[in-house]
Amino acid sequence: MKFLIKNGHLIDPNENQNSGKNLLIEDGKVTAWLGTNESAPEDAEVFDASGMIVAPGFIDLHVHLREPGQEHKETIASGCAAAVAGGFTSVCPMPNTNPINDNAAITRYMIEQAEHAGLANVFPIGAITKSSDGKELAEMGEMKAAGAIAVSDDGRPVPNAGMMRRAMEYAKDFDLPVVDHCEDKSLSSGGVMHEGRISLLLGLKGMPALAEETDAVRDILLAKETGTHIHIAHISTKGAIEIVRRAKNENINVTCEVTPHHFTLTDKAVEGYDTNTKMSPPLRSQEHLEAIIEGIKDGTIDAIATDHAPHHADEKALEYDRAPFGITGLETAVGLAFNQLVHKGVIDLVRLVELFSTNPAKIFKLKNRGTLKVGSIADVTILDPDFDWTYKVSDSKSKSKNSPFDNWQFTGAAMTTIVGGKIVFRK
Ligand SMILES: [Zn+2]
Repeated sequence: MKFLIKNGHLIDPNENQNSGKNLLIEDGKVTAWLGTNESAPEDAEVFDASGMIVAPGFIDLHVHLREPGQEHKETIASGCAAAVAGGFTSVCPMPNTNPINDNAAITRYMIEQAEHAGLANVFPIGAITKSSDGKELAEMGEMKAAGAIAVSDDGRPVPNAGMMRRAMEYAKDFDLPVVDHCEDKSLSSGGVMHEGRISLLLGLKGMPALAEETDAVRDILLAKETGTHIHIAHISTKGAIEIVRRAKNENINVTCEVTPHHFTLTDKAVEGYDTNTKMSPPLRSQEHLEAIIEGIKDGTIDAIATDHAPHHADEKALEYDRAPFGITGLETAVGLAFNQLVHKGVIDLVRLVELFSTNPAKIFKLKNRGTLKVGSIADVTILDPDFDWTYKVSDSKSKSKNSPFDNWQFTGAAMTTIVGGKIVFRK
């Protein structure tokens, strides 16, 4: 099977590529880059990408797909449908399923469900500790052999430094990055939004920026000591970004991601008590948002990840204090990045592709992905930077509708998503 993506503008930061090229795909792999006037095999099926950006497939390092255990919120199939509709060819689900993904059988199950759905690739993140309860290390080697690409206890971060040190040493033995949700719960527990002027005005208990920062300091020091790669999930505070910036200058093995909601919204959005503004880490104040934008600009922030966290409407319909943390994000991430970053001149298209594809593939060492060089797997995201559209949460492919971006207007979208050489979504 031959497939030619013609007349597109090919951006592949990994190969310093940023110009018009035709892309030949055979049997799910990229087999040639052809000049725009170069002849292609006549039996190739042609996809006309005129006016479009052709990029290596976007990779979301941080999603919650809820299966096994909470299929009323999302299944691996529905989550993958939302992923490809948002331009993602690969997603990395967190282990907080029920049961927790702390063993090879569950890791394997998740991958099989994804293969069955035949949409996005799924690269599971295994738990650091058994049941993510911080007491006993999970079988990282077995999970890795089953296909896990990193370890994390995400929303239940390893509470003590001794255990985290052992976890990092163990993860390093298996060459697994440790994904770190930085939150010292002794500072944040009971909080439902960012601690600051607005939490005071609204009478809601706050989660201080400090809770993220003290934990980031602890784990960066442990990463320095152990030499383990830590990847800080959903970084959200000015202080944490500064800590990462300094750690990188010291060549400590640390990377970090940011979510679209944290570079778009502030705690002001909580004023209407919409529970779709409740997530962890919480929406921060303007000074933190500005620090995030600076971190995206100067390269301190390596990747954009959604933290897609579906919840059933009944659960989110509770009062603000009691509603669960998290929002969906797979279908709005690219639109938000165009609106908030590209069209405002914060970043260019090359950096956009780096944040969504090149760097995520490097962070989790996904071989032959995050690039379209000859020989790589033909995961492709085709973008139209000028496409005007409105997000309707009712049309979402996700089983859950907990998005604060319903009816938002966007300029720029992922128009076609190709996984392993096969078109799996067209907008
Ligand atoms: Zn988290």
